[in-house]
Order: sequence, then C-alpha cells, then structure tokens
Amino acid sequence: MPFSKLGLSDPILKAVSDLGYTAPTAIQKQAIPVILSGKDLIAAAQTGTGKTASFVLPLLETLNTERKLRGKRIRALILTPTRELAVQVEASITRYGKYLELSSMAMYGGVDSQPHIQRLIWGIDILVATPGRLLDMAHQRALHFEELEVLVLDEADRMLDMGFIDDINKIIERLPGDRQNLLFSATISDDVRSLAKRTINDAVEISISPNRAAAPKIDQWLITVDKGNKSALLSHLIKEQEWDQALIFIETKHGAAKLVSQLVKRGIKAEAIHGGRTQAVREKILGDFKSGELKFLVATGIAARGIDIYELSRVVNYDLPDQVDDYIHRIGRTGRAGSSGEAISFVSKDNFRNLCAIESRLGHIIVRKEIEGFITKKMVPVSILNYVPKNKRG
Ligand code: AMP
Repeated sequence: MPFSKLGLSDPILKAVSDLGYTAPTAIQKQAIPVILSGKDLIAAAQTGTGKTASFVLPLLETLNTERKLRGKRIRALILTPTRELAVQVEASITRYGKYLELSSMAMYGGVDSQPHIQRLIWGIDILVATPGRLLDMAHQRALHFEELEVLVLDEADRMLDMGFIDDINKIIERLPGDRQNLLFSATISDDVRSLAKRTINDAVEISISPNRAAAPKIDQWLITVDKGNKSALLSHLIKEQEWDQALIFIETKHGAAKLVSQLVKRGIKAEAIHGGRTQAVREKILGDFKSGELKFLVATGIAARGIDIYELSRVVNYDLPDQVDDYIHRIGRTGRAGSSGEAISFVSKDNFRNLCAIESRLGHIIVRKEIEGFITKKMVPVSILNYVPKNKRG
C-alpha cells in the first residue's frame, strides 16, 4: 500500500517522499487512518517500527487548518520520557512538516527555561515536552491548555518506569476534556492500562509485533564472558571485526567513564553520555555520534533513551539489563525500519536469571558465539525457556 492511500495531503506526502520512504510501515498503515478519523488510540509498538511518523503525520494533517494561534496556547502536546526523545520527536515534526506552516518546540528540564518561555509567548502548534518541565511552565502560567486538541503519550511505559505518573496525572487534570488521546507504548503493562483507563475513552487498540515481516531485521547474539574480561573482549571485537559504529549500554555512570578510559588506552576513541553530563555536552556527543565522527558511544540506559539514529548498525549490552523491556527497547535501537542491525550481549554467570527471562520473552534462545582467547572460567548454563521470575510464580 502506498502512502498516498492513507488520506494524507500533498505537502506531507512530498516530505515523506523526500526522505526516501516508499511505503508505510505496519504501524503507520494501521494508526494513521484511525488518528485521522479523530478516534482515540492505544498502540503497542516499539521504537524502530516507524511509530513516530505514525502519530506525527496525521497530527500535522489534522492541525493544518487556517486556525490562528493565541499566545501561550498550544494545540497538540506530545509527552515523552526524556529530553533526547523530545528533541528527536520534534526533529521528526520539522522534517515531516517542512512544507507546512505549523510551529513546534521541544521543551525539557536541565536547561535554562527563558528561551522556552519566550517562544511560548506567541503560542505553539505542537509542543513536545518532558512531564516535569511542562508542569513547571504551567505553574508559572507560561502556557495554558484550553485550546489543546490532541494529547500524545509517547513511550508511556517508560514514563511510568521513570516515575512520572504523578506529573502526568497533574497535567491531564489541566487539559480540556474534549480532546483526542493517543498512547504509544512498547508494552501494554497493567500500569499502562490503568493510565490509559483514566485518560482515554473508547480507544481503538492496535498492536504491532516486532517479529512481523515488515519489522527490521536484528541479528542477536551473545558471548559468555567473565566479568573482569569484558573491556578486553569489547576492544578485541571492535578491532578484529572492524566495527564501524556501536552504541554500548552499561549500567552505571562510573562504569561508563571507566570503560571509555580503558578503550582510549587501547587506541579506540570513545565517549560516554550519562545523567551526570550537562545537556550541552550530551548534545555535542550525540551530534558527533550521529554524524559518524564519533564511532563508539558508551551510554547508561536512561541517557540512551530516545537516541534515534537511522541505520545504527550495532548495539552492545556491555551489561545485560535487569528488565526484559529494557533489552527489547535497546535492541530496537538497531535495525530500524527497513535496515538490518546487530545486537550483541555480554553475559556473565551473575546474569543467568536475566538471560532466562529475556530468552523466555523472546521465545527462543539467543545464538551464542565463542571468541578465541575469551573462554569463560565461570560457565553460563543454557536457559530454561519457560522460566518464570520468583515474584511472578503463581
Ligand atoms: P521510530 O520507530 O519512530 O523510532 O522510527 C524508526 C526509524 O524508521 C526512523 O529513523 C524513521 O526515520 C524511519 N522510518 C519511519 N517510517 C518509515 C518508512 N515508512 N519507511 C522507511 N523508514 C521509515
């Protein structure tokens, strides 16, 4: 099915075609007509499925009317868990809306709020914001919601994981009742469902499985490795396999800084982003990584959230995440719509339970590779696929 069958107008179709998209992804095919019809939507879709365009394109279409904006007013609000994701989503709005006259802004904490306040004075069609800063601005009466037409909760599961539920509830209380609601989440957990119940009436529900044919191809494999050997193994792989680029996930800030210095000592240029770095530094590093100038980026899970790099070829779980959802999100950073990618996990004996949980969710065992010179002293057994975590056993 071509994009032209979805009910989008020419300026939007032209922007999409300029980007080289030839056909809508599965989520776009399903979500765009629902959103254009004005209905509420709950969509289970991961990063990498084309979900951003699935709400941004119809949002641009709906808002592209003659209506005049009033000062300090917004017409659509997109809430995201992190500043990086806010910036990414806003960049998509600019790309997809380049032939339209709609205004947009990303607003997030950790930076001076004055520029945001100044821009809000004239009103903004689409505001992308993290919950905390948005609430601050509302308290300061820098913006008002009575003209809001559409609310989007993007990566709702992640916002709840990050403890934004109170802020989200306070924001929703301020919004006009007569609005369209769209909720996107990688997984629809009980908490997400209860948020949806409070926010959304009568929604259409869609679910996109990442394993569908249209989904990106991700080659997952793992290496069992003794903890103390991880950084030597990483350097070895980067050199031996001539990696072009990799996003490397690590658990702690401290670990990230240490790994970068170990890589640098072995002649591999790398940088780290984590919550302890300023916004300006994070943006600079991300920019260098995206342009390809920086090849190896070490990131803690939260800092890496929302990094949207088209055709990122490789992610590495230097530390295997505790949560299965995090694993799924992370591997979704690679093999974005249409391209293929590689997700490599370093697994040591302590990770055995996590590995079982991940492989149970995937429904298959992840291919193990052995690397000469890196044979483990502490064996990691093969997983039990019907593994159920202790706290969930009936
Ligand atoms: P998302 O799931 O929104 O993070 O999007 C993943 C990536 O897929 C982004 O880099 C988009 O630019 C790209 N993308 C979105 N829609 C399409 C499409 N229909 N065809 C090709 N690439 C797309």
